[in-house]
Amino acid sequence: MNGRKAKERRRVQRERDVRLLAAVRAAEPVWERDVPGGCEVWQRGPAVMVAPKVPADAPEELRAAVTVHRAAILALECPGCAGDLRVTGAGSVFLRHEDGCVGSPAHLFELGERLGVEIERRA
Ligand SMILES: [Zn+2]
Repeated sequence: MNGRKAKERRRVQRERDVRLLAAVRAAEPVWERDVPGGCEVWQRGPAVMVAPKVPADAPEELRAAVTVHRAAILALECPGCAGDLRVTGAGSVFLRHEDGCVGSPAHLFELGERLGVEIERRA
């Protein structure tokens, strides 16, 4: 592939990403259904989001972290960090948390391990 074609492809993809994020931001999240593993599926414009419910029986520290993680998914911005909203090459929207954010998946897994609570890993 030559450089001009690659540059054009990146431009088209960037424009797609901007349109997609604008459509997602413009829509309100609408609850769709519960799914196994304590999560909920939400639709927000063209995006489908899977957010964990805050487990009532979990230790307080884990409940607080899941609350931040869930809020970040549903609000498209994290209350715990200046997370970066991105679109993957496949067109999936996801929020990348800053390192060390209490709501980051890495922190949730670390907490689950330390507290002896199984955290289901989602793709
Ligand atoms: Zn965060």
